[in-house]
Amino acid sequence: MSNPEINDIENIDQSIGGTVFERFFTGQREAREVAPKTFFMTADYVNIAVFETSEGLLMVDSGTKEAAQSTYDEIRKHTQAPLHAVVYTHGHLDHAFGLKPWLEAGEKPRVIAQENMIDRFNTYRKTGRMNAHINEVQFGIDAGLVQWPTEMDDFVWPDLTYHDRLTLNIGGERFEVYAAKGETDDASWVWAPERSIVCTGDLWEGMLPNCGNPQKVQRYPEGWADALEAIASVGSDMLLPGHGMPVEGADTIRECCMNTAVTLRGIVETVLVGLNKGQKHEEIIAQIEIPEDMRKHAYLDPLYDRAEFIARNVIRMYGGWWDGWSSSVIPAPMATRAIEVANLAGGASVLVKRAREISANDPALACHLAEWAALAEPQNRDAQQCVIDIFKTRADGEISLMGRGIFSHAVRKAEKAIAAMEENA
Ligand SMILES: [Zn+2]
Repeated sequence: MSNPEINDIENIDQSIGGTVFERFFTGQREAREVAPKTFFMTADYVNIAVFETSEGLLMVDSGTKEAAQSTYDEIRKHTQAPLHAVVYTHGHLDHAFGLKPWLEAGEKPRVIAQENMIDRFNTYRKTGRMNAHINEVQFGIDAGLVQWPTEMDDFVWPDLTYHDRLTLNIGGERFEVYAAKGETDDASWVWAPERSIVCTGDLWEGMLPNCGNPQKVQRYPEGWADALEAIASVGSDMLLPGHGMPVEGADTIRECCMNTAVTLRGIVETVLVGLNKGQKHEEIIAQIEIPEDMRKHAYLDPLYDRAEFIARNVIRMYGGWWDGWSSSVIPAPMATRAIEVANLAGGASVLVKRAREISANDPALACHLAEWAALAEPQNRDAQQCVIDIFKTRADGEISLMGRGIFSHAVRKAEKAIAAMEENA
């Protein structure tokens, strides 16, 4: 494939740009032979790598359920070799749900995953509706429309799991599979030494790691850094990620991985210093900053998660949920507080006026005022409109997809409230 523009560290910063989705949509739907007998393609927005050996194919990730048939058809245009084995890099919906067409075609691959994936799939069985709600907030996808996997048959379960490391010999070729904890606790990455290619799954995303998602389960910044350091240490010449463009050149790969690891470790260190000083969560968060020499790298842009979100995730890992304010351990409900503040101010309209006044200079505080106004007087159209305007501006100015998702959700909720008022008028 050799994209000369992403062969060195200076150029990688210039060649990747745009939103998360623009980075994830590589435009490479065709399976390309990126190295002899090594195919790489993007199905919708997730990548699949296929190593052809004399004994059959080793596939790394299987993509989504929705893109499964087209992925199968595309790979079969390039090779008819039997599917010997599949490694799921982790159990997310975009990576581990595309095997059915292969099985229906009579293939009998070993399905390989890190041992924690079984627990992940079992967790999915308990939390399908929750995940639908999360995606509604995050992406605006109607929770009623998406069917998350919850039945045994919705999954193609791994039949070969491993703890920390697994060596595969396929067609006389060695492939190393390593366990990691990063975005998930069930991650694997694959090293093909004889081809000098590493498949990272989502351990490399070409942006600040998605390691602090406000709505998701625990993520592992230190495990992520460990994995990136291990990936850097193998010295591969080509990195095939779970999303976005490959990275080429051993020096570039090493530097990208190490800089990302250093950045994650810096966030963890700041949180631990704050926790050890007994600081409140907000005091710790206020100190979180990506150093200047790291901020300049486009592959550390906080396009998905912010550094503060990662820090909150570290607080959760090492500490409790109490934020340090005495009143918040057994708090008054938010709506009760909002009604009291609005009464003291002289009505929700005063909060609305103040929110609009300060929104340019202090958008975070303006969001609180707007939310209180709408909570205090849900039937006040101006208050709901204020939520729409202020959160819309906040969303438009927000770089992280996760922040933008939550702000946009507030807008949609207020729009629904106004629509309901109009219907009842
Ligand atoms: Zn993914």
